[in-house]
Amino acid sequence: MAKKMHDTPMLDQLESGPWPSFVTGLKRLAQENDMMVDLLGQLETSYETKKGYWKGGTVGVFGYGGGVIPRFTELKDANEKPVFPDAAEFHTLRIQPPAGMHYSTDLLRKMCDVWQKHGSGLIAFHGQSGDIMFQGVSTANVQPAFDEFNEMGFDLGGAGPALRTSMSCVGAARCEMSCYDESRALQTVINNNIDDMHRPALPYKFKFKFAGCPNDCVNSIQRSDMAVIGTWRDNIRTDEKLAREWFAANGMEGLVNNVVTRCPSKALAVKKAGEARTTDGFSAVALDDATALEIDNHNCVRCMHCLNVMPGALLPGKDKGVTILVGGKSVLKIGATMGTVVIPFMKLESDEDFDKLNELSRNMLDFFAENALDHERTGEMIDRIGLSNFLEGMGLEVDANMILQPRANPYIRMDGWDEEVEKATERKASGG
Ligand code: SF4
Ligand code: SF4
Repeated sequence: MAKKMHDTPMLDQLESGPWPSFVTGLKRLAQENDMMVDLLGQLETSYETKKGYWKGGTVGVFGYGGGVIPRFTELKDANEKPVFPDAAEFHTLRIQPPAGMHYSTDLLRKMCDVWQKHGSGLIAFHGQSGDIMFQGVSTANVQPAFDEFNEMGFDLGGAGPALRTSMSCVGAARCEMSCYDESRALQTVINNNIDDMHRPALPYKFKFKFAGCPNDCVNSIQRSDMAVIGTWRDNIRTDEKLAREWFAANGMEGLVNNVVTRCPSKALAVKKAGEARTTDGFSAVALDDATALEIDNHNCVRCMHCLNVMPGALLPGKDKGVTILVGGKSVLKIGATMGTVVIPFMKLESDEDFDKLNELSRNMLDFFAENALDHERTGEMIDRIGLSNFLEGMGLEVDANMILQPRANPYIRMDGWDEEVEKATERKASGG
């Protein structure tokens, strides 16, 4: 039984609406935890005065330079004593989740037990950073709590100017769209660069994210410095039985209005049975005895729309791999940027493929560490030094498939125009 609750009339109002309220959750935890009682007291004060009362500081665990977000209260009385002493220290432990965020209920219960024993009991699965956020612990309890999580096989995540905790989609474990082993890719890259996570020494944060297909359920293209996104380079796979069932349920109207006309690159067409092309990159699937869906695979930009709306009838091809993009971030000094393709396609199946990914990610981190300015993300660095210099520095071959926007903006001309200009200049110089 915890100490008596403070009056919280403003917070109480937040429970009166139609939606579940976080206040109810905090009050439930406060029934057995003094820290939560005082947290509610400080929060109510913040609502009254419209001021925040948390300041940072330095708190850590032995051997690590980051991973704990320190919070000390600034709400003091005339004698410099905290007004809400049990919540005077309310630090957060960032713990890396398992790749793909797979947990057993047993493990979740154990995590809750540890946090009730050492902390406030408040856990966020998962924060924007991708970590499990164990919120609310005193300075003295940070080390014992971490030791118990460590015993369970978990490690601290990243914070500050460091390699940050990574995310992979649930992928191959449960999703038929998956094009590679996302969990293995995440573990390979993060485990081999873990020093950069625990000892912040980079110019700014650096994030890797792994999405199994272009649906990009982890927002890697917008939210990571290096995004690894699954794709395929052969034909879209088809399942005639499921395609016929889908067509029987949705009809020609559904097919035309929701599938064919929504393909961004006009790669889909409705054909009479027997008239659909199946060579030169085209493939087809019968929808009934009179109708077929023709797919122009060379012009498919892998937007995933048709695969998503015809589940199982259309699936990623068999020749799978990944596309790698760099420089995404939702808001940079230069504005919001999406990642830019630097490796249009690479296989990611064999041990050698994973070694190659690992080497690339290490090179990427090293290049960032050596060339980025303080507080500059990868996208900003590339914008400043120029993409061609970045590619040259990284030793990456220029490829015409490297594009900023599909079908709109190839930033590299491959037609030899620069040699023509050189020849013309030489001719002019020699008076020819
Ligand atoms: Fe599935 Fe693709 Fe989403 Fe991963 S990104 S969970 S593979 S749909
Ligand atoms: Fe068109 Fe390809 Fe997108 Fe399907 S996945 S709608 S074929 S671009």
